[in-house]
Amino acid sequence: MDLCNPRVIRILMEEAGIRFRRDYGQNFLIDSSVPENIAEASAAGGADVVLEIGPGVGCLTRELADRFERVLAVEIDRGLIGVLARTLADKPNVTVISGDIMKMNLAELFAEQGIDPAKTPVSVAANLPYYITTPILMTLLESGIPFRDITVMVQKEVADRLVAKAGTSDYGAITAVLGYWGKAEKLFGVPHSAFLPAPKVDSAVVRITLYPKPIYEIPDTAFFFTLIHGAFEMRRKTLQNALTAKCPFLSKEDVADALRAMGLPEDIRGERLSTADFARLTQLLYPKKQKNG
Ligand code: SAM
Repeated sequence: MDLCNPRVIRILMEEAGIRFRRDYGQNFLIDSSVPENIAEASAAGGADVVLEIGPGVGCLTRELADRFERVLAVEIDRGLIGVLARTLADKPNVTVISGDIMKMNLAELFAEQGIDPAKTPVSVAANLPYYITTPILMTLLESGIPFRDITVMVQKEVADRLVAKAGTSDYGAITAVLGYWGKAEKLFGVPHSAFLPAPKVDSAVVRITLYPKPIYEIPDTAFFFTLIHGAFEMRRKTLQNALTAKCPFLSKEDVADALRAMGLPEDIRGERLSTADFARLTQLLYPKKQKNG
């Protein structure tokens, strides 16, 4: 059964009595080279287990099953669960889990499956639903699960943001935050014609390789993330104005002193600071937070 054939997908869905759900970001792959390439890139990380988010009718799932010892696939659309039971019937190493990835406790999910991600390397692979790409990525990164890598298809614009360099127009809070957890690289582009139904925009596959241990020494990670979000919420403002608005316990002098200590101009905007700069800024401003915050 060719799960990338539009006719096959339509028949499977008709027989299950379901329709494409736009609210779930359902754009299924119809170019079989794409799931192959995603699975290949994901497996190159060398993990034993892969967590797939949103298997759809299972085209990427099958490719992953051929390359990993175990595949856990979480699908929100209950209508697709029966379809997956058919399309993955010959893949005993796949476990399909019905539910919303955003509402799941990932540590419990792995424990229930007898997997300890601290001992068994786990990757994530997905053709992500576009409507919640960033929240899903943040949930994965903040879950505390030591994923080895995350290989995902996202909108091209999001891919550009994830891999942007500081100071460029694509650079944003997500880029700076991501830099704390790992390194992102864009692997290849995918045209909108590779999906059914075809979205308006093109996509790209990004691989995030997570650092096994944090590479920045940060006294208070919540404060670090607050500084990053504060800097980008008011992108047009100088960092001094943005941060004093976000953190009332900081004065303009506090921020100016920190910038001077870092060798940066006082009127700099947040978008010019790398993750490493935000880490240093956090170290310098943390005593002020402790004293006045
Ligand atoms: N993997 C399939 C493919 O590549 O053809 C489908 C990808 S489609 C872009 C996104 C999939 O994610 C859909 O199957 C959708 O139902 C599922 N999905 C959407 N939101 C989800 C969520 N919060 N948790 C789990 N799955 C979700």
